[in-house]
Amino acid sequence: MTKTRTPVAIADGRAFGGSLRVIVTHEPDLAAAKSAVDEIVQAVDLAANRFREDSELSRVNATPERAVVISPLLVKLISAALRGARLTGGAVDPTVGSAVKLAGYDADFAAVPRDGMAIELIVSRIPGWQAVVLDAGSRTVRLPRGVDIDLGATAKALTSDLAAAAALSQIGRGGVLVSLGGDIAVAGEPPPEGWLIQASEDSGAPIQEGQETISIRSGGIATSSTTVRRWTRGGVALHHIIDPDTGLPSDGPWRTATVIAGTCVDANIASTAAIVMGQAAIEWLEGSRLPARLVDRTGSVHRLGGWPKPSESTFVSQQTHRQSRQH
Ligand code: AMP
Ligand code: MG
Repeated sequence: MTKTRTPVAIADGRAFGGSLRVIVTHEPDLAAAKSAVDEIVQAVDLAANRFREDSELSRVNATPERAVVISPLLVKLISAALRGARLTGGAVDPTVGSAVKLAGYDADFAAVPRDGMAIELIVSRIPGWQAVVLDAGSRTVRLPRGVDIDLGATAKALTSDLAAAAALSQIGRGGVLVSLGGDIAVAGEPPPEGWLIQASEDSGAPIQEGQETISIRSGGIATSSTTVRRWTRGGVALHHIIDPDTGLPSDGPWRTATVIAGTCVDANIASTAAIVMGQAAIEWLEGSRLPARLVDRTGSVHRLGGWPKPSESTFVSQQTHRQSRQH
């Protein structure tokens, strides 16, 4: 079995405050694929990074009550976020911007202090995605005063999709995998055994022998978790996924959700939604026919929508294979 595993070429880097990994099936194409990916990552960063004052998104957030002309890329990113809101009944909603900041996530995560003084946590519904007026025709977006857009959930995943497609079209053969902090998109012809991905709650976790591993041949996979981007204020534990109903970090039964879908952005819409929806996510995921792996607060794993049982999963040896890991 080991011998039949196809060798792949891997380039690692950093993007959006997390890890970046590009894998190609044809080693000579690695540099070209990586530079196509880097180009997309930089473009998205300039369009949608809420921590950059010079990003288009910061300009939109700072210009309420006016139709602001934006780039085609930001139109795409905001459209994806609004699509996420529609598909999830508002569980995933880009108007969480102020709530995310009020909870303490107001800088690149590396710069967010892990402990701090108590903050006042006020229950308040977020403004809601219907407040965002996007006109793709005139390429404008208009926000009411007091509404901040945060594209943290969908932008990274859409970047993986766009970057995998751009890399494939650049190299014109074989297969490509792009992982941004564990939000993974693949394009082209996969290795014969598929793209093997270790299910994990933390994208920083090392690839380990005997870990549950899943194989995908197309589309994407994404993980949302409350276990990694978390901090405390006045002894109260907080994290980065906001329940739109309360404007506070969600407190449902799942601490980690991993979903497979036709694209990475759809997988990510579903994984973030699963954390917010809690118990109701089971029915929603099954209705959406998306394979999912949910980890509850005790660490128990729940597999649904056709996600294979561990006995059916592929187990990967560390020596033979180091592809990707989940976030
Ligand atoms: P993810 O890790 O893909 O689930 O995305 C989480 C990120 O999306 C957070 O760091 C926030 O920037 C943003 N976010 C938090 N809560 C929500 C929500 N309910 N809907 C949309 N985006 C959210
Ligand atoms: Mg994600």
